[in-house]
Amino acid sequence: MSEWLEGGCHCGAVRFRARFDERKAIDCNCSVCTKKGFLHAIVVADDFELLTDPAALATYTFGTHTAKHHFCRTCGVHPYYVPRSHPDGFDVNVRCLDEGPDDWIVEPFDGQRWEESVDSIRETISRRPNGGWTS
Ligand SMILES: [Zn+2]
Repeated sequence: MSEWLEGGCHCGAVRFRARFDERKAIDCNCSVCTKKGFLHAIVVADDFELLTDPAALATYTFGTHTAKHHFCRTCGVHPYYVPRSHPDGFDVNVRCLDEGPDDWIVEPFDGQRWEESVDSIRETISRRPNGGWTS
């Protein structure tokens, strides 16, 4: 059973909603996720909707510059971004959902060894019943 959940940054300038099939999040240990405290839940593009003005966001990139690390220009919180593993989708910060991460199952992801680890999450998401990935 999928469900739409709403969330946003701290100040409210960035609001979004996303649809999830299950409450499973990924805790990545890479350099940027550790510092941000980002808990990941990746969805296909059709399952994400930004509800506020995109101009409220700034974007940070590094390394391959594939991932687009969006954050709120006002409060600095990172509610979602475009992940390197799924550049056609969106990666929601479960900690930024209105109801918080308490009801979510959190699994570790070894982002320090990204090349070796990424196949595991690509497979997980391609099995999703609501469309999967085209690339
Ligand atoms: Zn904000």
